[in-house]
Amino acid sequence: MKFIGAHVSASGGLVNAPINAHNIGATAFALFTKNQKQWLAKPLEPKEIADFKEACAKYNYTPSQILPHDSYLINLGNPTDEGLAKSRLSFLEEMNRCSALGLDRLNFHPGSHLKEISEQECINRIAESLNITLDKTNGVTAVIENTAGQGSNIGYQFEHLASIIDKVEDKSRVGVCIDTCHLFAAGYDFTTKESFTNVFESFDKIIGFKYLKGVHLNDAKKELGSKVDRHESLGDGIIGLEPFRMIIEDSRFDNIPLILETPNPDIWSREIATLKSFIK
Ligand SMILES: [Zn+2]
Ligand SMILES: [Zn+2]
Repeated sequence: MKFIGAHVSASGGLVNAPINAHNIGATAFALFTKNQKQWLAKPLEPKEIADFKEACAKYNYTPSQILPHDSYLINLGNPTDEGLAKSRLSFLEEMNRCSALGLDRLNFHPGSHLKEISEQECINRIAESLNITLDKTNGVTAVIENTAGQGSNIGYQFEHLASIIDKVEDKSRVGVCIDTCHLFAAGYDFTTKESFTNVFESFDKIIGFKYLKGVHLNDAKKELGSKVDRHESLGDGIIGLEPFRMIIEDSRFDNIPLILETPNPDIWSREIATLKSFIK
């Protein structure tokens, strides 16, 4: 099965996320379980949890169709002890919110070295952050997203993600999410049949498809290897529509949330319909 959707708004209450997803014909969705620009939130009310679960059941969204995204403030590889402690606390809270909502994965950006420590040291800190968090939680997989390599962000090479996974003790609760815009901006060309085959063969060899827990489907505004993270609507950017057809036709991308983070919510229903039309 292909699960296709978008990162929908949960403003006015988490229950609105599955409703908004349903309204655009989505069979998957992503959401922030709290304000993404805040470190901590007030705990979820039992009523809020129940309403969310009820709406997911009503519109047939199971956990493998839902990809929550954590706060943009969190940096699990933060070079300062204070920043790291704050990030770890906030990430733990986010993992617990997912768990309370009956969700089984949490998508996050690996972290940044802020030019104060080496990439390897940053990777070590991220892995340690995951080990600490996974030790204190149950049932939720931490899903590392690849990055464009903007600024001092880690995660723009498959090897970074593999190295983090390698250091995580409980490998059953760590996964990855591929963002196609980030992948392209990081210098991975997958726009032709041949390059698509090569990139995902190398992904499988270095990381492994068994770790793939979600995909962000975004076209790119900037050229290959730009290291600039600017999403574009599908077919309107430099990647073009064809690679997205290849993803939809590829069974290695079955049964995981495939999520649009494209800039124009008004055309999400059309983008979803286009993607669905690629299903054979
Ligand atoms: Zn992201
Ligand atoms: Zn993304």
